[in-house]
Amino acid sequence: MNICEHILSAGASLSPFGKMLVTGFYDGATDGFVECQHCGRAYAFRKLAWDEEQDVRIYGLAPLDVSLENIRLDTLHLPPGDDPVSLVPPLGEQEREAVERLAAAPVQHVVAAANLRRGVLASKSLVVSDEDTHDWFAWLGLERDRG
Ligand SMILES: [Zn+2]
Repeated sequence: MNICEHILSAGASLSPFGKMLVTGFYDGATDGFVECQHCGRAYAFRKLAWDEEQDVRIYGLAPLDVSLENIRLDTLHLPPGDDPVSLVPPLGEQEREAVERLAAAPVQHVVAAANLRRGVLASKSLVVSDEDTHDWFAWLGLERDRG
């Protein structure tokens, strides 16, 4: 499974991200699953870095071969719902392990956003030689806000 063209070409103005299942939250989403609103491909996302104010977050995206609806209903055993963002309640052990397996899919793309659903500030595909990157802001060509 690859990153879809909509995420690859994500610009600053319009976010390609649609519905989101949030499994980790700290003043905003840190971990979870999100779907492309154009083609429905689902991704696991996880926070790789954030700035001092935690306003801008850098997320790694791993494409998945299951839909967000599958994850909601079959993996998390949550009731169906149309909320754009669902905060996942504390999970049982079986569900937690399933989430960990999905979240372990390899990151292929990195985006910076204050809020994934409101717009992408920077977007770049990850290649193997980048995997040891420590300064994700510099790697994406973003200024880190030092104010
Ligand atoms: Zn797409």
